[in-house]
Amino acid sequence: MTTAAHTSLAPFIKGLPKAELHVHHVGSASARIVSELASRHPGTVPSDLEELRAFYEFRDFAHFIEVYLAVVALIRTPEDIHYLTYEVAREMATEQSLRYAELTCTPYTSVRPDDPDLGMPIEAFTEAIESARREAERDFGLVLRWIYDIPGEFGVPSADATLGYALDHGPEGLVAFGLGGPEIGVPRPQFQSHFERARAAGLHSVPHAGETTGPQTVWDSLTLLRAERIGHGTSSAQDPRLLEHLAETGVPLEVCPSSNIATRAVATLEEHPIRAFRDAGVTVTVNSDDPPMFGTTLNREYEIAAALLGLDEAGVAELARAAVRASFAPDDVRRRVLGEIDAYVEGHAGRAAPGPSSGQ
Ligand SMILES: [Zn+2]
Repeated sequence: MTTAAHTSLAPFIKGLPKAELHVHHVGSASARIVSELASRHPGTVPSDLEELRAFYEFRDFAHFIEVYLAVVALIRTPEDIHYLTYEVAREMATEQSLRYAELTCTPYTSVRPDDPDLGMPIEAFTEAIESARREAERDFGLVLRWIYDIPGEFGVPSADATLGYALDHGPEGLVAFGLGGPEIGVPRPQFQSHFERARAAGLHSVPHAGETTGPQTVWDSLTLLRAERIGHGTSSAQDPRLLEHLAETGVPLEVCPSSNIATRAVATLEEHPIRAFRDAGVTVTVNSDDPPMFGTTLNREYEIAAALLGLDEAGVAELARAAVRASFAPDDVRRRVLGEIDAYVEGHAGRAAPGPSSGQ
């Protein structure tokens, strides 16, 4: 994989208070977390950390799907959900300096209404993520909110079920309704009524679109699903009228550079359209998607974005502010995190300028 990243900014980025808007619950499970889950449920996945790290090493998209499904299969009980959520929050706060995150959860794959023997009741799922959310805020100072997403590959029945989880069992921290999974063969318009009902209940609309299909998917998400942010939106770069529309309406893109390379949505980082988005006046936020499974971290994604956009410390801080502004965080949390970013930048202002870029 290409390694264009602004490494001289790494220490600044590591400590910079941040918000993340596009990151998946199960996809955030690190090798450390999976090792514990594998020792609880021995059999399919090695619990030895070194062996597990080798299994986790990103090779290609097919292997990523294998890893992802193996981890999904290890999350069997409400205790597993709680452990995963709490430990993901710990790593977000302590390793990535996250103060706020909207974590995309796919309750359908834990409840498994298609095979209840393998699943858990939605009430138990909801209670597990909510208790972990409250404990993470208390213990790590990280404010978490949820996005419930439809796993597109399971079609309309999964959308019906996910809408029910959101409307009839919605946790206190639920702020938005999403749509993930493959785009090819999963047209967005079939979910229009689900998004209408979610929005009527006060949830924000944040579908994935334009990751592996063309700009029409992004248009459909804007006009039919009333998207307030677009997950990826990569192919928007092919349509100048769409870029203009995104810039005019201020609908942000949740850009995940390494993910786009891993899934081959973009061939190389140098060809990533993030600069075209920024130059067109589109609001760009930087995110990690499924970080350990794509061999990345949010800090690393900021380093990559800094290199691609030619940013200095002030520019990177502005990227962090853009994520806070594009979030659905409560007003007091927004103000607090923006204040922390300002204080951090001020604290750095008096220091020696960083040496010449070692990025390449
Ligand atoms: Zn995603």
